[in-house]
Amino acid sequence: MGYDFDLFTVGAGSGGTRASRIAGQYGARVGIAEADRTGGTCVIRGCIPKKYMVYAADFARSFEAAAGFGWEVGERTFDWLTFRDRMHAEIDRLSGLYVKGLAGAGVTQFAAHASLLDPHTVQLSTGEAVTAERILIATGGQAWRPLDLPGQESALTSDDIFHLPELPRRIVIAGGGYIAVEFAGVFAALGVETTLIYRGSPVLNGFDADVRSHVQKALERDGVRVVLNDVFTALERTASGIRCHTRGGEVLNADQVLFAIGRVPKTAGLGLEAAGVETTENGAIKVDGWSRTNVPSVWAVGDVTNRINLTPVAIREGHAFADTEFGGRPSRFDHADVATAVFSSPPIGTVGLTEAQAREQFGDVHIYRTTFRPMKDRLSGKGEEVLMKLVVRASDERILGCHIVGPDAPEMIQAVGIAVLMGATKADFDRTCAVHPTLAEELVLMRTRAI
Ligand code: FAD
Repeated sequence: MGYDFDLFTVGAGSGGTRASRIAGQYGARVGIAEADRTGGTCVIRGCIPKKYMVYAADFARSFEAAAGFGWEVGERTFDWLTFRDRMHAEIDRLSGLYVKGLAGAGVTQFAAHASLLDPHTVQLSTGEAVTAERILIATGGQAWRPLDLPGQESALTSDDIFHLPELPRRIVIAGGGYIAVEFAGVFAALGVETTLIYRGSPVLNGFDADVRSHVQKALERDGVRVVLNDVFTALERTASGIRCHTRGGEVLNADQVLFAIGRVPKTAGLGLEAAGVETTENGAIKVDGWSRTNVPSVWAVGDVTNRINLTPVAIREGHAFADTEFGGRPSRFDHADVATAVFSSPPIGTVGLTEAQAREQFGDVHIYRTTFRPMKDRLSGKGEEVLMKLVVRASDERILGCHIVGPDAPEMIQAVGIAVLMGATKADFDRTCAVHPTLAEELVLMRTRAI
C-alpha cells in the first residue's frame, strides 16, 4: 500500500525533531506536525529560557562577591523587560534553526495539532488527514495543575513564567523538584521575596540524601523561605495579589504563585485509543527498549514515555529510532548512568546511583565525601560549601555514583559521566593527576573513606 509518508512524527520538540531530521537524512519521506512552536519544551519554555534566567541571577551574586576582590560596583538595577525580550529574541532564533534543520533534511512541516485515526493515519487540525508507514509520537509532557484546588487558576506554571509582564515583588513556588528549586534560587537572587512550599522534606526527592540536605540549607541561606511538609488548601485573589492558605495553617501572600509540582505525559486528545496504543496508569505511552509501542507501526520517544525526562535523553531516543528504522543501524539508547544537572544555587551535577540506591543494589559500598569552601569565597566572604561524594562498590572499587554541589558542578559532571560510563574505579580516580587550583581536583584527591 502506498502511504503519503514513510514516517509521520507528532510533536517537533527535542525527540521528534531529531528523529525526523535523521530519518530525512537517510532518505525517508518524513512529515511532522507541531501544534505550538518548533523546538518544543526545551527551547521554547524549558531548559534554554530557564538557563538564561539562571545566568541573569548569577550576576547578582557576582556583583556582591566582587567587593572582596577590590571592585566597587555601583548601584545595580535589573530590568526584567530588557532581559525578557532579549531572551525571547534568542528563543526565536533557536526555533528558526530547528525549522531550518528540518527543512534541510527534506521534512514536510505542518503547523497543526495531530491525532491518530488508526495505526497508519493522522488527522491534522488543518482538516487534512495523512497516512504513514510509521508514526512516531513525541508530544512531550505538560505542567500538572491541581484542578480541584480552589483558586488554582490564579497560579502560573513554568510555561507562563518566561512571559511575566513584570518581576513580582513576592513569589510563592509550590514544589520540591528540580524546576521548583531552580526557580526559587533565580527569583531570590533577583531580589524577589521567595517562598518555597513543598509537601515532603527535604527538597529534591530522588537525589542523593547529602545533596538534598546541602541544597536545602543553601536555599535557606540564600533567603528563600522553605515551608516543608505542607500543601495549599486554597488560593484567593485579593486586591494586592494572591493569598495562599496551607494545610499547616500558613497564610502566604504573593504577587505570583508558581506551580512546579510535576509534569505529566501529553497524551490527551492524541487518539491513542483509536490506534490501540497502550498507556501506563499515569498516561505515559508504554514502550520497549527500542521505543516500540504495542502497535507495530507506532513508536514513541521523549517525555511522553516518562522514562528519563531530559532533553538529551529524548534526542538520543529519537536518534536511535531513526538509525534503527531508516538507517539500517539498529541501536538502542542505554538509560543507565545518564549524567544530569540542576541549576540551583549552588548547582548540582550528578551521575549514577545515590548512596541509598547503591546500598540496596549492592549492599556493601564505600563512601568518599568532602565538603570545603571554594578558594574564591575566601576573599569574597560569600558562597556556599562545595559537596563532593563518590559512591563506590566495595567488591571491585567501581564508581557507582558521583554527586557534586558547587560552582561549575554541571560542567564537571559531564566529564565525570564519561569515566563512570566506562566503568572507572576509585583507583583510576586516584591515579589521575589533579588540575590545580580547581574545585574539580578534589574529585581525584579524596583518600579517606567517610563510610
Ligand atoms: P517536548 O520538547 O515537550 O516536545 C513536544 C512537542 O510536541 C511540543 O512542541 C508540543 O507543542 C508538541 N505537541 C504535543 N502534542 C501535540 C499534538 N497532538 N500535535 C502536534 N504537536 C503536539 N531538560 C534538560 O535536559 N535540562 C534542563 O535543564 C531542563 N530544564 C527544564 C526546565 C523546565 C522549566 C522544563 C519544563 C523542562 C526542562 N527540561 C530540561 C526537560 C526537557 O525540556 C524535556 O525533557 C524535553 O523537552 C523533552 O523533549 P520531548 O521531545 O519529549 O518533548
